[in-house]
Amino acid sequence: MAPTARPMRILTRQLAKRPSSCLRGPRQRYLSTTTPRANANVLDSAIPPSPISHMSEVEMMMAESVSKFAQETILPKVREMDEAEKMDPVIVEQLFEQGLMGIEIPEEYGGAGMNFTAGIVGIEELARVDPSVSVLVDVHNTLVNTAILKYGTAESKRKWLPKLATETVGSFCLSEPASGSDAFALRTRAEKTADGYRINGSKMWITNSMEADFFIVFANLDPSKGYKGITAFVVEKNTKGFSISKKEKKLGIRASSTCVVSFDDVDVPKDQLLGEEGQGYKYAIGLLNEGRIGIAAQMTGLALGAWENAAGYVWNDRKQFGQLVGEFQGMQHQMAQAYTEISAARALVYNAARKKEAGENFVRDAAMAKLYSSQVAGRVSGSAIEWMGGMGFVREGIAEKMFRDSKIGAIYEGTSNIQLQTIAKLLQKEYTR
Ligand SMILES: Cc1cc2nc3c(=O)[nH]c(=O)nc-3n(C[C@H](O)[C@H](O)[C@H](O)COP(=O)(O)OP(=O)(O)OC[C@H]3O[C@@H](n4cnc5c(N)ncnc54)[C@H](O)[C@@H]3O)c2cc1C
Repeated sequence: MAPTARPMRILTRQLAKRPSSCLRGPRQRYLSTTTPRANANVLDSAIPPSPISHMSEVEMMMAESVSKFAQETILPKVREMDEAEKMDPVIVEQLFEQGLMGIEIPEEYGGAGMNFTAGIVGIEELARVDPSVSVLVDVHNTLVNTAILKYGTAESKRKWLPKLATETVGSFCLSEPASGSDAFALRTRAEKTADGYRINGSKMWITNSMEADFFIVFANLDPSKGYKGITAFVVEKNTKGFSISKKEKKLGIRASSTCVVSFDDVDVPKDQLLGEEGQGYKYAIGLLNEGRIGIAAQMTGLALGAWENAAGYVWNDRKQFGQLVGEFQGMQHQMAQAYTEISAARALVYNAARKKEAGENFVRDAAMAKLYSSQVAGRVSGSAIEWMGGMGFVREGIAEKMFRDSKIGAIYEGTSNIQLQTIAKLLQKEYTR
């Protein structure tokens, strides 16, 4: 890892002090800016497209510093957190210190002021070491922070963003016991009161709920309008009637908390309405489309981490029949195949992220990236156990944990069937005469 890697916040400040020409050096990718392609000037349009895996200086800095942080600080705690099924609060504090909880939040609100792809790179690097820590950062950044950045009023941005960037973990509460894939069949209700709104109902599967103090909650304000009654609210943990009722015991990402969250006459003031009444379903769709790229990055990071862990073992440590087991052609071909699939998944992830930043339609790309990367993560982490033999099967290193963790990629933020449905629907629209 680069010896110069340092915490994000410090590096962002250093970068900001440089003359702008430094930021436009040869390694800066044209598509890595958030400027829509349509706005590119004539000179830019003469620059040939560069490989999708190229990163800007900011993104490289993110990759290097997060990788260093993950190796030095998270890795020693991965097994312990998984066994305890608990996120170490010190890790959460350090994520804030590193600037990883406010990646896209502008610096004026205390965030790192980076671009979306930098966030994706960070999520991937974290997952290479621990997919649980990765999803904590992913949900907080891609769903919660983005919800306030996109739909919050100027006042709510001033109120919440500095907290979200520096000290308060966020959760995104859409799913319920009776509404998973059919998310907009949700039963949580909101009603208007003299001072604001009252929420009743319960949410299930809520990531980060043990660590969070800030919850984006979707409730139906007018069930007679069906999904067009769905409205988004901000609810703070200490609000009367709010409770966390059950922590799930899971197969994988066990250090990531997943709980049932209940609302019993929870009163929220008017200014905690997020955006407009009845627009919640649109916000949820938009946020999840972006969030899927984050989960796809989590899965490619996981696949790479599992592959590298096994490669280290078979090419350095384990000998059978008088040679390293990684020297057998039967092993080498499998490992080459797996690495090729990881690279293909990564290309889909980066392409979806770049398209989002370029202001292009990325919905199908995000669905393809999530679908494929979760398949690759499952395949590669499963093979990695076999490549390591018995050492892959025991609960010592990260091999068996990566395999267990990989399963969630095909479930949350839209199951694989739902991704296929999205891809097929968009293809059919395009190809119908
Ligand atoms: C660990 C974890 C963390 C989560 N975190 C969050 C969170 O932070 N916030 C949140 O709101 N939610 C969260 N979720 C919920 C998650 O998004 C849902 O679990 C997911 O959307 C699937 O819903 P479900 O579990 O009810 O499965 P179901 O919808 O019951 O699906 C069961 C099966 O039926 C298939 N199926 C359903 N509908 C169709 C269809 N139309 N066509 C074909 N097949 C179909 C599915 O693909 C799946 O195979 C989390 C879930 C887990 C397990």
